[in-house]
Amino acid sequence: MAKKEFKAESKRLLDLMINSIYTHKEIFLRELISNSSDAIDKIYYKALTDENISFSKDDYFIKIEADKDNRILKISDTGIGMTKDELEENLGVIAKSGSFAFKKENEIKDGFDIIGQFGVGFYSAFMVADKVTVISKALGEEKGYKWESTGAEGYTIEDADKAEVGTEIILHIKPNTEDESYDDYLNEYRLRSIVKKYSDFVRYPIKMDMKTSKLKEGSEEEFEEVVEEETLNSMVPLWRKNKSELTKEDYENFYSEKHYGFDKPLKYVHISADGAVRYNAILYIPEKMPFDFYTKEYEKGLELYSSGVMIMNKCSDLLPDYFSFVKGMVDSEDLSLNISRELLQHDRQLKLIAKKIKDKVKSELLSLLKNDRENYEEFFKNFGRQLKYGIYSNYGMEKEVLQDLLMFYSSTEKKMVTLDEYVERMKEDQKYIYYAAGESNDRLDKLPQTELLTDKGYEILYFTDEVDEFAIKMLMSYKEKEFRSVSSKDLGIDMEEENKKTEKIKEENKDLFTFMKEALEGKVTDVRPSVRLKNHPVCLSADGELSIEMEKILSAMPN
Ligand code: ADP
Ligand code: MG
Repeated sequence: MAKKEFKAESKRLLDLMINSIYTHKEIFLRELISNSSDAIDKIYYKALTDENISFSKDDYFIKIEADKDNRILKISDTGIGMTKDELEENLGVIAKSGSFAFKKENEIKDGFDIIGQFGVGFYSAFMVADKVTVISKALGEEKGYKWESTGAEGYTIEDADKAEVGTEIILHIKPNTEDESYDDYLNEYRLRSIVKKYSDFVRYPIKMDMKTSKLKEGSEEEFEEVVEEETLNSMVPLWRKNKSELTKEDYENFYSEKHYGFDKPLKYVHISADGAVRYNAILYIPEKMPFDFYTKEYEKGLELYSSGVMIMNKCSDLLPDYFSFVKGMVDSEDLSLNISRELLQHDRQLKLIAKKIKDKVKSELLSLLKNDRENYEEFFKNFGRQLKYGIYSNYGMEKEVLQDLLMFYSSTEKKMVTLDEYVERMKEDQKYIYYAAGESNDRLDKLPQTELLTDKGYEILYFTDEVDEFAIKMLMSYKEKEFRSVSSKDLGIDMEEENKKTEKIKEENKDLFTFMKEALEGKVTDVRPSVRLKNHPVCLSADGELSIEMEKILSAMPN
């Protein structure tokens, strides 16, 4: 049987392309700039391999011009350009990527950032334009050509005058409709911020004429409007620079420029990984807690870049919830993006990166704990609760990552201590790690149940956060030492003698205890003598696995 070729209804396909793959219209600019950057990369590559072409960085740039009156936005570049055939093939055939072919043909690997691969980005222009004109002159050609299309109706190609090698993309911006304004795409300030957002680290300058107010010459108060060409992008991303050349200030500036926070970072890490997956990352631990941190509004995530172009504002898959306070960015050439470049496909690489980031954040926090205790305690005050939630909500599965980062207030040290420090200090005959749960350290200091342990010189950890005891229940033990609440029946202390005494008192005062139990019926399950108390006449204790504090929390929870 003869095989038949699939046919596509190109009008409908184009319509799909234009209207369903992107969530934000503004990304058309990212796509067109990425194409221009690819085109310049290609001419640069050619120059490296052909001595007849010289490449002087200054001659290569991308220019954006907005003409409000005629509703025209023009993006031009000094890249490699397109021949007539290339216009036909690359812009006339959906899902045909000249850039992808170029990469393959030239076996380009490292050092080039060629971004294109799917052959659809160009058509995103039709989200904001009802007509697109492309005028291009290819390297080594005498003549230029003009490609023009209004979208679904097809396209025309004809000869055109163009002096310099390169490409101009002319967008006839759509008129405003009742529910949508397209004026943004003709507004220099909006355009500048879109460039900053997505294309800040494109390697070639993206220029635009900006109107600014300046003092008139010779005048001290009179301003005049002048037009100045501005380079909008910062080009060399901080994370590509050599670490040894960067200062603390550079990292702090990046933090505020990127609006990661209004504070200064407490700590930053710069990772350049070249192993199984190549990526660069700059991560920050904020000094202050974001005002909405412990609310539903807070969104965790890192900025994700693919070859310097922003793909995602907050990629949440890169951070576990318990490290949700980490800010920063990741850039990798090795991501498998989906066609809109807004989402990732089966993210094996992403998972690998996330794992590395998790390990790195942990080791950075441990080093902070070891070398800069004061700042670590500050960090823990802000974000410690999140770490404890992490242990609790993962059913203790992440305890290897988190347990060494925990801190609690100690009854004997009168300050925050780690579990490791506690265990180091444990008395020889001490079986358990003791804790007392309550409202505040002051109150816990006065807790009757602690007296016996304190008498023995044992240290007690104070749990004043609701989540503390829940987290510890998930941990179960630390360095093979189990946790034990001070209000638990069995404190693991040799109580034989005390128990005898207790039994005796109970026997001798049988009637009294029965009377008290009856009088408190419904409020307590039993009344019994205790030899644990030293300075207090009475205390409440829990019989079950849960401490009184935990029972309180559980009964306050909505069912
Ligand atoms: P992709 O960039 O994924 O390849 P596009 O739809 O964005 O897909 O572009 C299709 C092709 O058109 C590119 O691969 C490239 O060959 C060509 N092209 C687009 N814009 C330009 C440009 N400014 N200069 C040179 N070639 C371009
Ligand atoms: Mg593209």
